Amino acid sequence: MTSYNAANQPMIVTGGEGSWIVDSEGKRYLDAMSGLWCVNVGYGRKELAEAAYEQMLTLAYYPLTQSHLPAIRLAEKLNEWLEGEYVIYFSNSGSEANEAAFKIARQYQQQIGQSSRYKFISRYRAYHGSSMGSLSATGQAQRKYKYEPLSAGFLHVAPPDSYRRPAGQTVEQFNLQCAQAIEDTILWEGVESVAGVIMEPVITGGGVIVPDQIYLDRVQEICNKHGVLLIIDEVICGFGRSGRKFGHQNFGMKPDIVTMAKGLTSGYLPLSATAVRKDIYERFKAGDEYGHFRHINTFGGNPAACALALKNLEILERDALVERARVLGQRLEAGMKPLLEHPLVGDIRSFGFLLGVELVADKETKEPASLDTVKSIIGQCKARGLIIGKNGDTVAGFNNVLTFSPPLSSTDEDLAFILSTFAEVMNLRR
Ligand code: PLP
Repeated sequence: MTSYNAANQPMIVTGGEGSWIVDSEGKRYLDAMSGLWCVNVGYGRKELAEAAYEQMLTLAYYPLTQSHLPAIRLAEKLNEWLEGEYVIYFSNSGSEANEAAFKIARQYQQQIGQSSRYKFISRYRAYHGSSMGSLSATGQAQRKYKYEPLSAGFLHVAPPDSYRRPAGQTVEQFNLQCAQAIEDTILWEGVESVAGVIMEPVITGGGVIVPDQIYLDRVQEICNKHGVLLIIDEVICGFGRSGRKFGHQNFGMKPDIVTMAKGLTSGYLPLSATAVRKDIYERFKAGDEYGHFRHINTFGGNPAACALALKNLEILERDALVERARVLGQRLEAGMKPLLEHPLVGDIRSFGFLLGVELVADKETKEPASLDTVKSIIGQCKARGLIIGKNGDTVAGFNNVLTFSPPLSSTDEDLAFILSTFAEVMNLRR
């Protein structure tokens, strides 16, 4: 087997079935990243194509300035999944879903007489999208610095990265301190200037940073106390990835706004959604002379995409893929844990069927492994037919977390292949 670094070699992907994709040279790869964390039901689901096809024959397009049945049905279904009463606004991507959330939060605050509230707080290392607002909320400097200045009013605090907590602090103390940083920021900025806090339940692309329950409890309390809207970004954590329907449900959170994309259609067509708690929406509607959200999205909520999403949710339920994610996640974590002995592995963290392996150059000092090391491991996995990912870029040198987020429909054999191939690559470096 070659050990060349194939991580940056582009390939032309020509097909996919289950957890596997095939390139133009006929080489097969197990896609342990589900594309970009999104192909939750796996590749090659004919019934998804059929759902879109049938809908296109009936009604291919109408804007949601009016309404159509697939959007109404999908909104109802999402409410069932959210276990609450939400009004749903459809867009096409996670970035747009977050943009809509920011605009809704600002308009809401204005309409309830809190017009000076325009700021948002998010965490360093988190990713929230590529458009100006969602990139402003993103806490990864390397993705931003060439495009600055971005939108005003986006503030960041440290994430609850317990692996790197100061010596002598317990996980609980550290998590409380990180949550307190949010309240301190609200107070220092002026409560009357802060509209919302946006966060993923678990930072995913930023390095699989799993908070302690106490952190999220405290964040919820702080937001409620200060009239700050809590926006939960479920773009990756949603649709079964976490072992529950939505990531925040693992922590008993009650978000004001939930944004979602990716797994909503398993990536088969573009679609995203911004769910706003109904009571917030009612006040929102009542406070505007037009009685609605002043935001147009030509393609958002396309009927074929909505019909496909409904079928996707049906598959997730019918094939019990949410439960399967929980089981597979436990097995993936158990299978990876022996690697904690490896000199390069500092930490292993997981959330449902999503896992991060933090690589370090020195286990004592926790100095991050170099980007070259990270890329060459990814390349060696790829050379053996396994696609894995890494966390988003930061200037702080934290490019050292390998990520795994395979389709929830992965078979036992798929999981065995992921574990054995990754172990083989890591064992070359002992
Ligand atoms: N939010 C999170 C947590 C994401 O991971 C992403 C994309 O990776 C986005 C938002 C943006 O989604 P999109 O790329 O569909 O705009």
